Amino acid sequence: MLFDPRPKERREEIFDREKELESILNGINEYPISLIIGIRRVGKSSLLKVALNEYSGIGIYIDTRRLYSAGSGSISSAVLVDEINRILLGKGRVGFLRGIKVDGVSLAGLHLRPRESTWVDVLDGLEGLGRKTGKKVVVAFDEAQYLRFFGSRGGKDFLTGVAYAYDSLPDVSFVFTGSEVGLLHDFVGIDDYSSPLYGRISEEIEIRPFPRELSEEFLRRGFEEVGLKVPEDEIRKAVDELDGIPGWLVEFGFKYWKKGSFEKAIEATMDRAKAMIREELFELEKRSPRYALILKAISIGLSRWSQIKDYVEAKGGPITNARLNSILVNLEKMSWIKKENGRYQMIDPVVEKVIKE
Ligand code: ADP
Ligand code: MG
Repeated sequence: MLFDPRPKERREEIFDREKELESILNGINEYPISLIIGIRRVGKSSLLKVALNEYSGIGIYIDTRRLYSAGSGSISSAVLVDEINRILLGKGRVGFLRGIKVDGVSLAGLHLRPRESTWVDVLDGLEGLGRKTGKKVVVAFDEAQYLRFFGSRGGKDFLTGVAYAYDSLPDVSFVFTGSEVGLLHDFVGIDDYSSPLYGRISEEIEIRPFPRELSEEFLRRGFEEVGLKVPEDEIRKAVDELDGIPGWLVEFGFKYWKKGSFEKAIEATMDRAKAMIREELFELEKRSPRYALILKAISIGLSRWSQIKDYVEAKGGPITNARLNSILVNLEKMSWIKKENGRYQMIDPVVEKVIKE
């Protein structure tokens, strides 16, 4: 069902995106490293899951945020090894991996014991598995920017393993997704000579919000599926409000289906958006309360640097230019805002509405 609010896992469940899916599958097959970038709720996790399901070899899906929040503000090698072990064990019990042996050990008994195996040991194990199955093993990290919390050196130990696999393990490949696009680029560091991955080649696939036509078609198709007749002008108005971000369209469609009116559905969608965004803001505010203040300034339409500075100082006291700049750069890297012709703007109009209030 299109309006199912969970990430989708099968091709039949998703709307459009044939090109993006082809690119992801092509990336998986042809490149040791692929990046899937795009703002929050645009459909990255869904497309990644669908692609891994379609991939004919072994695909390992890792929700990096979950590894991070399971730990204590960092991701230990043991937690990562444990997770991969758990996923492989699950796969070893069912489906085509059942009974497959790697280096003489059946997969179901492949004990990469957390405290004894390192990330590099795991990669070596996966290479063996890839060779055995005749297909690359794909390790996919969703919201991979959180891997900067791996170990104690900003994730360098993780990346060193990836670089090793890139250079020496032809049957292992990686996918990284990121909503915080600049942070993901900084982390992977393909352009940064101090990164272990400097100069490596990767494929990058950007997932964009749907253009208006497709957004309206998305809603029409969803309503048709649940047998609801919704007037065209309401569909248009919904896209005016929510833009082409599938996460919000799904939320709206689902609520409309349950509540039966446009107004109630928009209201419920905005409430839900508020709750989600409040949680994300809370994370930001842990860094500094200035983040929220600056987002507020931009959301109410103060787009010039000097206007933002005046607003922030009026509400929160003096701030140095350097500090303001560094927060603006961070917000850009985290894909909250964009800068065009010297003017700052919110990226997601729903987030803008919620913060403006
Ligand atoms: P992201 O990982 O980019 O934050 P998700 O994959 O979690 O985005 O998608 C957000 C929501 O939008 C989910 O409810 C998902 O089911 C829905 N969604 C995203 N893309 C599509 C699509 N192409 N077709 C149907 N639903 C989609
Ligand atoms: Mg996601």
